[in-house]
Amino acid sequence: MYLCQICGNDISPTLLKCPYCGNVQDADEQQKFVKKAFLQKTVNLEKGLPTVDTALLHLQREIRSAKQEQIRVLTLIHGYGSTGKGGAIGRECRKTLDYLLQKGEIAAFVFGEEFSRKHGKTKDILNRFPDLGSHSHLGQQNRGITVVIVS
Ligand SMILES: [Zn+2]
Repeated sequence: MYLCQICGNDISPTLLKCPYCGNVQDADEQQKFVKKAFLQKTVNLEKGLPTVDTALLHLQREIRSAKQEQIRVLTLIHGYGSTGKGGAIGRECRKTLDYLLQKGEIAAFVFGEEFSRKHGKTKDILNRFPDLGSHSHLGQQNRGITVVIVS
């Protein structure tokens, strides 16, 4: 929760101006808050039944804006399966993540089916981001999602 320094209303720490009182927020205070806060977001890449290309553009756009908004973790819903659009989006999405990881655009990612306390990779991520211990997909073996550590 980030409060306006003047009126005390709960506002987004990414807003320059408070929508309630119009006070221009102190950028340093916001920065301090954002660094402390653990922000995560769920992105449904299947929403609207996009083509694979559109879904991949959506993915790249979300990663860029996550960086700007200091979101640390993105949970991607991309579907799975060997056939159909969901399957193709899932496969291509994971390929794209591999590419982005190699380019250093993202810090790590873990497939839904490996997102469990038993997996070494997940353990490392949980050590770094203990807040993820309450993630609703943890231990669900959900092949239709991937958890991305943005930074
Ligand atoms: Zn205000």
